[in-house]
Amino acid sequence: MKGRAPKEMDAGSEGLTPAQRSALAQIWAVLPQARLVGGVVRDLLMGRSVADVDMATPETPEQVQDTLKAAGIKVVPTGLSHGTVTAVIASAPYEITTLRRDMETDGRHAVVCWTTDWREDAARRDFTINAMSRSRDGTLHDYFGGQADLAQGLVRFVGDAGTRIEEDALRILRFFRFQGRYGTGEPDAEAMRAITQRVGLITRLSVERVWSELQRILTGPNAATLVAMMARAGVLSVILPQGFALGRFIHLVQAGAPADAVLRLAALAEGSKLDVAQHLKLSRADTAFLLAVSEGPVPETDVTDAALRRFLADEPARPLIGRTWLRQATLLADAEAGQTAQTEIAQPDARAFEALRKRLEGIPRPVFPVAGRDIVAAGHAPGPAVGQVLARVRNWWMAEGCTASREACLDRLRHGFE
Ligand code: ATP
Ligand code: MG
Repeated sequence: MKGRAPKEMDAGSEGLTPAQRSALAQIWAVLPQARLVGGVVRDLLMGRSVADVDMATPETPEQVQDTLKAAGIKVVPTGLSHGTVTAVIASAPYEITTLRRDMETDGRHAVVCWTTDWREDAARRDFTINAMSRSRDGTLHDYFGGQADLAQGLVRFVGDAGTRIEEDALRILRFFRFQGRYGTGEPDAEAMRAITQRVGLITRLSVERVWSELQRILTGPNAATLVAMMARAGVLSVILPQGFALGRFIHLVQAGAPADAVLRLAALAEGSKLDVAQHLKLSRADTAFLLAVSEGPVPETDVTDAALRRFLADEPARPLIGRTWLRQATLLADAEAGQTAQTEIAQPDARAFEALRKRLEGIPRPVFPVAGRDIVAAGHAPGPAVGQVLARVRNWWMAEGCTASREACLDRLRHGFE
């Protein structure tokens, strides 16, 4: 046994990386009562890798901070008001939160007080699979049957689903996110009933929080199934009052479109995309991409390379590729709708779309090689006319397939375009 820590020193961190285990050994050496909590416990039980190691402890935040500092561990007071300090070990953060009990909740925020009762802390967590903790010696503390639910693929609220949603409506969206990751089969009936009756509470949340959860749902595992479930529960019509195209979204995901939240939103949302962007308070970059991908020309699958270069001279590959996905999804959804109406509509050729996207990815963006000063250097008087001449040169360059060199363009400028 020489050189090895005794079993109880490290059993709790089994399954984590050596760096995480060594950091936990340092924390546990001074805070032996602290436990792993929430996602890390759940994911270790599932044999999944763990990115964030969160801990809880009965000491107050001030005590946690002082104890860690005294042990020479770097501490950042990341959320003292809600009880969280972060230990930084080998550049990795370890959040340590004092055990809490909810005093008041208004559907969005909770007023908390410290407690030393582990069960109380577990009771305020959202789902049974998220309410487990694991102590230093490896003991699993499972107050609400989380391990059994995890094994069954059941995402279940801790306590009464309706009450828990009224305390914090974000839990509606968290339910679908976790259902996507851990749920198997039908969602918990009680949860679905409670959600369906309370979808209106979502409008009280900040849209930033809603979009942040929605993004994770749209790009996470089982997105098509989840979004259909959200439509069934009435959640989608609250989040997207402009309307939604469920069929197009499902076909987009099933066709293998990348897990790009804005592309997926473009497929799902109906109506004015600017309204959607403003309603969800998308960032400027996300708004620009949502508009770009939803509007503008889509290359046909059989276009020439020269035509593709012209597309790429005008805009980057990302919106163009995004539009090919949206067109493919729209055709698939239309074909499906047509089939039910007994009409023949050709299925889009997935391989042709795939080949088109490969070409769009492979062709470097052509850069028009002439600038306004070249026009002036060629003898044109500076002024608004320069722009018009430049545009003529660019039109010629485009018509030639965007391959003409700077010299060829200037030569053309000297000799005229006819
Ligand atoms: P992930 O791997 O997605 O980070 P996670 O379980 O760590 O999963 P977080 O959102 O990071 O999820 O939250 C950490 C823990 O805090 C959860 O496991 C849960 O116990 C608790 N929690 C987070 N948000 C809520 C909420 N709105 N209501 C109740 N408990 C919550
Ligand atoms: Mg987490």
